[in-house]
Amino acid sequence: MILRKWEQLKQSIIQDRDNLDAYSLLKLLLDWTQEIKEVKDVQIQNLYKDYFSYYERLNIEEIFYTDNVVWYSLDEIIQYDIIQAKVDSPQWAIIHTRDIIFNLLVFKSDKDCPCCHDDNLRVFVDIDSEKLVFECDICLCVVDENNNKQNPEGKLVVPAPASLIKAKNITPSPI
Ligand SMILES: [Zn+2]
Repeated sequence: MILRKWEQLKQSIIQDRDNLDAYSLLKLLLDWTQEIKEVKDVQIQNLYKDYFSYYERLNIEEIFYTDNVVWYSLDEIIQYDIIQAKVDSPQWAIIHTRDIIFNLLVFKSDKDCPCCHDDNLRVFVDIDSEKLVFECDICLCVVDENNNKQNPEGKLVVPAPASLIKAKNITPSPI
């Protein structure tokens, strides 16, 4: 069921490839999560909650970042993460789709992770304090704007809105 839905998603992306920009791809993926939400299966419902429900409450239009330079290659995402991706279980279809949504939506800065130095940091906002929070995809280290380590426990963070990132002159990670 889920694998068939993944295959349908892939086919519609292949058909639309020449017209797709990053935003319309993101929308297709988010629409797909809503199809998954309708699947009446306890295991799938739990996967939905774990991986996709987070995106429901986000203001996608405000968060989505567009500029001449971004931290990903749309062509590579379509080619390697979607068309050539080996997706052979429902769980992986869901996690993999979540990863692509995350990558397109959450701004990746050129700020080096001060904890592992293996990756650059994604940019979020702490809902309560409204302060920027930087997180590493690899080691999950969380720091504030001044590289002070933060304890992420109990904090609700959302991807930083594009306007805030531009106002702060944060530049994207090189591809
Ligand atoms: Zn790190």
